[in-house]
Amino acid sequence: MPKTTLLDIVWHWSHVKDECHVSVDWTDAHERCWRCAYKAALDRCHIIPESLGGEDIPENLVLLCKRCHREAPNVNDPEAMWIWIQSQRAVFYDSFWTIRGIEEFERMFGRQPFSETTLVKVTPSEIIQRAIKTATIHFGEGRLNPSTIAFVLRTAEELATELELGDSDADHDVQRDSGPITEGGTLHGDEP
Ligand SMILES: [Zn+2]
Repeated sequence: MPKTTLLDIVWHWSHVKDECHVSVDWTDAHERCWRCAYKAALDRCHIIPESLGGEDIPENLVLLCKRCHREAPNVNDPEAMWIWIQSQRAVFYDSFWTIRGIEEFERMFGRQPFSETTLVKVTPSEIIQRAIKTATIHFGEGRLNPSTIAFVLRTAEELATELELGDSDADHDVQRDSGPITEGGTLHGDEP
């Protein structure tokens, strides 16, 4: 029997579940992860795992990006996947992983990013675009992971402080440390 397609899965669930259960509009559900809501190559994820007898039918499948697939529950409970997806709902597209990065920052440094930084000469987005040049996307990952985002935020704070104080070496420091540059220069990262 052929595998259930992405569109079969979207079609099924869009007739069963309200959009308040997922992070995406059903019209985007074939190309955006149902948990983090980023555009990505989507895996067909078993609700009840194959190894526990889960079938390859739309009723037992959802669509997640690879990173969310790895974090999804693998238990013999048809409700578990939905409880998890709904509890994680992203309010806006392209915000989930940035918020996770901010949470990592707060865990490591015990405060919110930029809470001790005064920005007059530069905006946070300008400074983040420069700080992001010190980071890279891990091979096989589509975008910056949360702990990398946290350190990009810290680098951005340091850079901002240097620029606000008028340190002319700030540019030089960033370029010296730069690795491969993420296109677009935002914390969203890019698609694989
Ligand atoms: Zn995802």
